[in-house]
Amino acid sequence: MVRSRTIGHIRGIEINVHPTFALVLLWVFFQWGRGSDGGFLAMLFGVTLLGLVFGCVVLHELGHSFMALQHGIRVHDITLWPMGGVARIEQVPARPRAEVLIALAGPAVNVAIAVALLPPLALFGVISGFRSPGDYLLYVTEHVSPGALLVYLFFVNVVLLLFNLLPAFPMDGGRVLRALLTAMIGRERATRAAVMVGQAMAVGLIVLGLWYQEYSLPLIGLFVIVTAHVEGRAVKVESAMRRLRVGQFALWDMGGIAPHHPLTYALRGGPRDVAVTDGGRVVGMLWRNQVLHGLNGGAGIRTVADVMDSAVVTVDIDDSVYDVQQRMNQLNRWAMPVTEDGQYRGIFTADRFVHVYRQLSPSPFHFRVPQGLTSALTELLRAWGR
Ligand SMILES: [Zn+2]
Repeated sequence: MVRSRTIGHIRGIEINVHPTFALVLLWVFFQWGRGSDGGFLAMLFGVTLLGLVFGCVVLHELGHSFMALQHGIRVHDITLWPMGGVARIEQVPARPRAEVLIALAGPAVNVAIAVALLPPLALFGVISGFRSPGDYLLYVTEHVSPGALLVYLFFVNVVLLLFNLLPAFPMDGGRVLRALLTAMIGRERATRAAVMVGQAMAVGLIVLGLWYQEYSLPLIGLFVIVTAHVEGRAVKVESAMRRLRVGQFALWDMGGIAPHHPLTYALRGGPRDVAVTDGGRVVGMLWRNQVLHGLNGGAGIRTVADVMDSAVVTVDIDDSVYDVQQRMNQLNRWAMPVTEDGQYRGIFTADRFVHVYRQLSPSPFHFRVPQGLTSALTELLRAWGR
């Protein structure tokens, strides 16, 4: 896999650019360098415009991110892809109200930018003696200038706004739709419905694009189909994990280790994270790096109690795999002791989680278009071919 490059941080949020983004740059060089007579100046114009457009995309994603932060939801990073920006927000908010607000915060940024551009645009129109909005369009087809940049930027924000408000999951409008449906039919079914609507609209985009020979539309359509599918599957896996009890997957490791045991004893069966128990109760965790470090520290007989981590957090046998995984993430832990009525029952580790996750979602790149859509699409294509 090609890794994204980090270009900066804003309020702790990493801003990344995916290497495939270079393709867009190439396309801009080609489009502006060859498509117009402006030569170098036109290319420069194209690159500046690209920079500004993706600046707007980053601001849009920051809109989502800041709103998420305000609801106490962590934001990992924002990555720029050729198809746009993606903000990785810790966990999709379970509360519909928060989800609606977070989804709308992105488009709201585009509204703000477009409104802010209105006064300079009006001024530019007056100076250039424009009589109607059509004059702006006419102007940009013939000029590469700061004025043309303003006009393009305005249109870009209007397009970003309209496109993102499409009720096609995973666009922002689709998220709003999902949140509204969640209140009525529950999150899992709401997601399935929103994914279906999104994929149907995507097929519409593909057909429209082929019909009018506007080939960016089928690309966007494919993007929507794939991302909607991935998102839908993530929710399916999530609800499966909410149903599974962590007790089923905890490993019984001989009842853990006692505090008075010598440290070397912890190495039986290889270095690993072990729960420390006293009379069946969990009193600490012995992390594998602590064991190795403790043994490194010098000679003498050290006991488990000397190096164990007594800030212990346990989970209950009936907690869901999903909740436990969230806790492990928040606490930055690789393993959690599982108890039943306060008694140690086993350990749940990150490895176990990966195992469960793999069982639930066997192949990451498998996706299918719903049967109905496939046949509808073939019918349409056949009709179009005649
Ligand atoms: Zn958005």
